[in-house]
Amino acid sequence: MRRRDQETEARPSEQKEQQHGDEQMESEEPWQETEEEVEEEKAPDEGFMGMTPLLQAHHAMEKMEEFVHKVWEGRWRVIPHDVLPDWLKDNEYLQHGHRPPMPSFRACFRSIFRIHTETGNIWTHLLGCLFFMCLGIFYMFRPNMSFVAPVQEKVAIGMFFLGAILCLSFSWVFHTVYCHSEGVSRVFSKLDYSGIAFLIMGSFVPWLYYSFYCSPQPCVIYLMVICVLGISAIVVSQCDFFATPQYRGVRAGVFVGLGLSGVVPTFHFMISEGFLRATTMGQMGWLFLMATLYITGACLYAARIPERYFPGKCDIWFHSHQLFHILVVAGAFVHFHGVSNLQEFRYTAGGGCTEGNAL
Ligand SMILES: [Zn+2]
Repeated sequence: MRRRDQETEARPSEQKEQQHGDEQMESEEPWQETEEEVEEEKAPDEGFMGMTPLLQAHHAMEKMEEFVHKVWEGRWRVIPHDVLPDWLKDNEYLQHGHRPPMPSFRACFRSIFRIHTETGNIWTHLLGCLFFMCLGIFYMFRPNMSFVAPVQEKVAIGMFFLGAILCLSFSWVFHTVYCHSEGVSRVFSKLDYSGIAFLIMGSFVPWLYYSFYCSPQPCVIYLMVICVLGISAIVVSQCDFFATPQYRGVRAGVFVGLGLSGVVPTFHFMISEGFLRATTMGQMGWLFLMATLYITGACLYAARIPERYFPGKCDIWFHSHQLFHILVVAGAFVHFHGVSNLQEFRYTAGGGCTEGNAL
């Protein structure tokens, strides 16, 4: 970055302005202008109109540089929803506490440690991601003695961990850089949505693997179907309209629908195993709890509850997106618990299959 003081000699009128700016940077944050400052800024504006286009461009560049420098230094304040640029306006019920646009990745990542509307969203999935990384490493490096087919089983369970880690890491990174710029927020929101599809696809793999352990044909068919549906959801989430606030309900519907496609293999399993075996050995109770957690999260997200009823009261903590994040982590953990019970059952039952049973 070029230093401003090299230029000040040539333009004494601006030197004064910059001194004022420096004092202001020490006492005031850039995102709250007093009336006095607004008054004083009028004069340079008139001068600005009298400049040649080249000087105007130079002046604009300097302003931009100064702004980037302030953001780089971490000197910014949270701002209310109504002064946000359109691309950052997502939820009008969160009235205050938003980060301003900050076109610097360094500033975005430093904002993880500041309090604003995204702090809870970032930390819920950052900690969730670290938790699943540790759990995954622990699970993968367990001694092979407790597996019937260690390689196959670890690949199947590994898919779940991969899906969960991708989903949670895309999510916390998206929420961190969301305020960088319109282009960056668009790219990372697509990654964020794709991550949800990865989590759902990854969750299906070990569940189908153990539930249809003795009927490989339906297992492969269901795996192929979930892959096609999951990839379709990823393709849809690449469309620009998909990330807009008007499509909030559609987004929730697409991912709930993707998860609920598991109803078909569930019924298949219940019919072939019987209700009792399905609920005990098939871990249907845990799967049901997982579905309830995810669907509750998606409903809160789509309806923006509770902030809808308490506008401005849930700006920082307990707004719908944060609750949705917590429910996603809880749902993924419940799914893991169900899958690890299925894995234990397979180990105690041994590798053999009795005729007519899927499990
Ligand atoms: Zn999120």
